[in-house]
Amino acid sequence: MKKWKSILLLTAVLVGLFIIVTVINTLTVKSKQPTPHTAKVSINEKQAVDHLSKAITYKTISYEDRSKIDFSEFDKFINFLQVSFPKIYRQLEFEKVNHYGLVYKWKGTDSSKHPIGLTSHYDVVPVLKGTEANWKQPPFSGAVLNGIIWGRGSLDDKIGVIGILQAVEYLLDKEFKPDRDIYLMFGFDEEIGGDEGASMIVNTLKERGIKFEFVLDEGGAIVENMVPGVKAPVGVIGVSEKGSATAKLSIEGSGGHSSQPKDHTNIGRIASAIAKLEDTQFKGELKGPGNDLFEFVAPEMNFGMKYVFANKMVFKPLIEKILLQQPASAALIRTTIAPTIFQAGEQYNALPEQASAIINLRLMPGDSLSNVKKFIEDTIDDKDIKVTVEGTEASKVSTVDSWQFKTVQQAARNVYNHAVVAPYLMFAGSDARQYDPISKNTYRFLPVQITSEDLNRMHGTNERVSVKNYIKAIKFYAEVIKESNKKTE
Ligand SMILES: [Zn+2]
Repeated sequence: MKKWKSILLLTAVLVGLFIIVTVINTLTVKSKQPTPHTAKVSINEKQAVDHLSKAITYKTISYEDRSKIDFSEFDKFINFLQVSFPKIYRQLEFEKVNHYGLVYKWKGTDSSKHPIGLTSHYDVVPVLKGTEANWKQPPFSGAVLNGIIWGRGSLDDKIGVIGILQAVEYLLDKEFKPDRDIYLMFGFDEEIGGDEGASMIVNTLKERGIKFEFVLDEGGAIVENMVPGVKAPVGVIGVSEKGSATAKLSIEGSGGHSSQPKDHTNIGRIASAIAKLEDTQFKGELKGPGNDLFEFVAPEMNFGMKYVFANKMVFKPLIEKILLQQPASAALIRTTIAPTIFQAGEQYNALPEQASAIINLRLMPGDSLSNVKKFIEDTIDDKDIKVTVEGTEASKVSTVDSWQFKTVQQAARNVYNHAVVAPYLMFAGSDARQYDPISKNTYRFLPVQITSEDLNRMHGTNERVSVKNYIKAIKFYAEVIKESNKKTE
């Protein structure tokens, strides 16, 4: 009896200790949000709105079939910039790279410092045939109605180009002098891969030995109700983007008549291979940018959620299990497998001699294309199935405990005081990845507060932005430049 009592007592003491330690952990979690400085930027709203509205009217459309691109619209757009931003064209060095890539250099006062870069793109995706009539305002009208600017590119991403130029023009007007050089770089084919635009700009700057402290591109925005347990809007800065791979699984072998099939046919074997991959899945692990996201938002969560994340040493497996239950959060912590094409057979009574499947995978930083190939081969364990994998590796992962990240985070907080600003992992590709070789860090952030409907409108119908958001975006870019100026490195 006595022995049981002491075991019970010991257990109670241990449980008590566990609760005390974990609660203390929870209560001592420190916020990673910098105190906002007041953004003292007063923009000439009417002029700024006119500029974005006009910018939208140029049909700088990227088509996969490059022969369809109308470059006269791009020329007109460039002329429009020159007329609209006279101080920039007078005071910054301007050059065109590969005809339509635009690079502006704002010389700093301290040549010992490495530059920073602000980038964006002025090409837009086409309006899908047959959807024109669904637009409440014509897609290239640039209509401004009741505080909303309408049109293709209003969010993706002429707001970036015009927002950055507007901010620099404002700072020039105030006779602001940056200490480090600031580059503004605008691509013209981001929507079709960026090979002619961003990629050529990077090559040109690389030859000159330029190395950025950070480059800021479009990316995550400020969204509400995205992270459970956080009431405030959350602004997410992409510190890396996932890789994208296309895996092809194919098998060839005897076909034959369907009246006397083997136990395992070509279709059956490819199907079984895919089923094995789906059953196995890549391991999900809370690490890297996915983990950073929670490190930054956890201190702002309600007690229950904060308790779990503050005691990750204990709860990590549970957190991972929960994250893996939803596709969106699962994608944050593992390489994803999406079979997208299956091809086999032509006739109902003939066994196909070939069968193949295409799988689209999005790679976590750390999972390389060759890892992925090996994972597929090991998992399907069928020597007759040929596996090829090609694609793009995940981008470099940028720092979050650095002055470079803090500059972008601080600027976002200065403008969006109530938002929690955190790093995250982007699933989609962007031009930012191209800058990896010439930048210590690349950050991806679109400084607007948007809803999930806004996101759908970006490449869809009725793309638009509120004047309020747009003005805040301009202020954000001005703040990034000002905040980067104070840094001693
Ligand atoms: Zn874009």
